[in-house]
Formats: sequence, C-alpha cells, structure tokens
Amino acid sequence: MKLITNCKHCQKEIRVKSMSNDRPELAKEMGNEFTLNCEHCLRKDRYSANEVKAKESKSIKIFSLLVFLIGTGFLACFFRDFVFISESPKFLFYVCATLTVPAVFYGLLTKQDRDKVRDFNRYWS
Ligand SMILES: [Zn+2]
Repeated sequence: MKLITNCKHCQKEIRVKSMSNDRPELAKEMGNEFTLNCEHCLRKDRYSANEVKAKESKSIKIFSLLVFLIGTGFLACFFRDFVFISESPKFLFYVCATLTVPAVFYGLLTKQDRDKVRDFNRYWS
C-alpha cells in the first residue's frame, strides 16, 4: 500500500512518505496539517490527513507475481517426473498443485494489500 494525494496546483500525484495504516494514525504521525512538496511543479502546500488516500502498491504486485512465477517453476521442477514424464494417474493432481499453491500465495499477498487500502480509505480522521 502507498499513500498519495493530488497536488493542489498541477493535480499530479504526490507520494506521502508514511507507514501509517489509517488516517487517524497518519494525522498523529504528521499532524492535522502538513506541508508536502510536489515533485512535478515543485510547489509547496498544506495538506490534511483526509486529503490523503491509499493505493495498492505496485511493488507488492510485482513481488507477488515473482513469487507466483518462481513458485510455479519450483513446483514444476519438483513434480517434473510426474507431470511431464510419467503417465501417473495422479497427473492432474500434480498439475493442479503446481498451479494452485503459487496462485493461492499470489492471491493472499495481493489481497492483504487490497484490504489495507480499503481499510485506510474507509476511516476518516
Ligand atoms: Zn504539482
């Protein structure tokens, strides 16, 4: 999750550097009003915690995708003999396991971030 607000002058996104999980926490950490510098038009202005919103973080999505790809590759190697060579009756089971486990991990990781974003945007300070 990342915290952002829109610049009052150019409307572009400004990143708020805070690890807060909700608006009351953000207000406690940064004060009710705080000054932010826009990286795009370089103008300073005062913003309040209620003007900040949460967005899903790209790095978590990329990380989750990597976990998914590496996990799939790892399991495919692990089950290689069963999945690609043998005509084991458990063939389908191994194919499913190879895809399901990383997919579940991927889902859990991204869901956690989505939930945090939803929680942040729900509470107003
Ligand atoms: Zn700006």
